[in-house]
Amino acid sequence: MQGFKKKEIRLKGISGSPGICIGRAYLVDHEGVDVVERYFIDPKEIKKEMNRFKHAVQNAIEELKGIIKNSPKDYRQHVQILETHILLLKDKMLYEKTLSVIEKEHVNAEWALKKVVSDAQAVFKEMEDPYLRERASDIAHVGQLVMRNLVGAEGVNLANIDKRVILVARELSPAETSQIQLESIKGFVTDFGGEASHTSIIARSLQIPSVLGLENASQVIKNEDALIVDGYTGEVILYPRQETLREYKLKKDRYEARKAQLIRTSKASAKTTDGYSVSVMGNIELPEEVVAVLDHGGEGIGLYRTEFQYLNRSDFPSEEELYEKYKDVVEVMGDRSTTIRTLDINGEKTISFRQFEAEKNPALGLRAIRFCLQYPEVFKTQLRAILRVADIGKVKILFPMISCVDELLAAKEILKQAGDSLKKDGLPFARNIEIGLLIEIPAAVTMADALIQEVDFFSIGTNDLIQYAFAIDRGNARVAHLYRPLHPAVVRMLKQIADSAKMDGKKVAICGEMAGDPLHAPLLLGLGIDEFSMNPQFIPAVKHMIGQVNLRESQAFVNALLKETTAERVRSRVLQAYGDLVKNEILAEGPDKSKTLPRKAKCRGKSA
Ligand code: PEP
Ligand code: MG
Repeated sequence: MQGFKKKEIRLKGISGSPGICIGRAYLVDHEGVDVVERYFIDPKEIKKEMNRFKHAVQNAIEELKGIIKNSPKDYRQHVQILETHILLLKDKMLYEKTLSVIEKEHVNAEWALKKVVSDAQAVFKEMEDPYLRERASDIAHVGQLVMRNLVGAEGVNLANIDKRVILVARELSPAETSQIQLESIKGFVTDFGGEASHTSIIARSLQIPSVLGLENASQVIKNEDALIVDGYTGEVILYPRQETLREYKLKKDRYEARKAQLIRTSKASAKTTDGYSVSVMGNIELPEEVVAVLDHGGEGIGLYRTEFQYLNRSDFPSEEELYEKYKDVVEVMGDRSTTIRTLDINGEKTISFRQFEAEKNPALGLRAIRFCLQYPEVFKTQLRAILRVADIGKVKILFPMISCVDELLAAKEILKQAGDSLKKDGLPFARNIEIGLLIEIPAAVTMADALIQEVDFFSIGTNDLIQYAFAIDRGNARVAHLYRPLHPAVVRMLKQIADSAKMDGKKVAICGEMAGDPLHAPLLLGLGIDEFSMNPQFIPAVKHMIGQVNLRESQAFVNALLKETTAERVRSRVLQAYGDLVKNEILAEGPDKSKTLPRKAKCRGKSA
């Protein structure tokens, strides 16, 4: 391959989606829309200029609609993102503001648009919430799309690339990423973008390796340069040496063979070497993810995060809308169980309805069950939909962010009212739905023995539990090093939760990201966890690990571990006892752990 004589360069970015690819670079050039000139419009011509802008927006909408129309049917997630871009194009913040700047300041449409986009971006970029911060890039993408239409520049059509290449770009918009043809694009790298960006969400759903946030890759890398993209570690190797190339070819082959093998064997149920069966389930956010759960050997849905049906819209969904969405999942799951978590908005995922003020500290604010208890009608609508769908399948309900018995009783009371109202309306619904409590607040750990008496099962949300126990923002990379599931404080909390459940003869599940790391499986088994639920892609590796563990030995191991007092000691003992079992598991490595924290919205990474 050309370019090998140059010195090997390693660029470090953020893992966009896992996988390894090796190939030639293809630079994606966004034709001249960066330089925008300002000129004044004669007052008589203002209306014409405003119409020119309206036209450009309409063309942009048509363009997006065209991409949606040509998207394969199973690309529902992409379509949803592009549909939100269409809404954004017509949003007051962008559309009407630009028209008003043209009208009031008598400037050209390009200048007005540039001003409005950069103002709006500045507002989003200031937001503490990483999910919302990423939305600044959505505004930039739709702004670029309109700008291209205004200046008449050619768009980038990735669908026309006819050779097997690795894309290199300053940034790729979701619309562009959606056009990627898997048969021609091996992977991509970009200067901008983060793990929660929609571009990386699409990359993960396409299962195409990508590294984002490389800062200057599009300047350093030239067309046809030889590249290795390691989507696990977030590393890009430019001009790889023969030796590096050999190493990565091996790594890639090993990964692909292992992945295929694990997926094949993952259909069998997970049983320890001494014959103890555990359920391994999938976490989903959208109904279409059910397929991934089944494909990876998931035995049910252990966590259905329902908040996505409430985002990117200006009103609350109706009972019927929710019922249809839940029905899509429950019908596909057949006799496998589905645990539906009630609405958990306003933490990292904020609803945009005007009447709700932005909170200074949303993770500690009116979130999840607290929000639902303050808006019982919104809550009841969801509960009615869940109770109705529980009549046609095996459905359990899970209340998030419960901090005390009173809250739990209040939630149960509204559930009862929802059932009563369905009875009155003569609609069929499940009368004995199983109720679970998601433990993710340290106060609930302390009160676990009392709380368990009010529910049928516990599920442990380690993402938030660790965040609140250690006072570290789960979305803040600067404190990522303190996010340690193998800290003795976590082990002790899990023990207290599991013991409380067992004392009352109830089951305990775990659905935080901690469950998806095979290295944690022996510890969780030894603590008495009955059900593991995780991102579907981790199911095969975790099932495989469970199959190699002896339950009795893991229980003895946990007893010894409980005496340790530092995270380093716990981790080194776990590695010593079980490290060999995961050492050769490339699937167990996961993305770059120093840059990935479990996040609410579309997290595909594992915790550190
Ligand atoms: C958790 O907190 O661990 C959890 C499962 O919920 P989420 O990640 O949606 O907050
Ligand atoms: Mg949570």
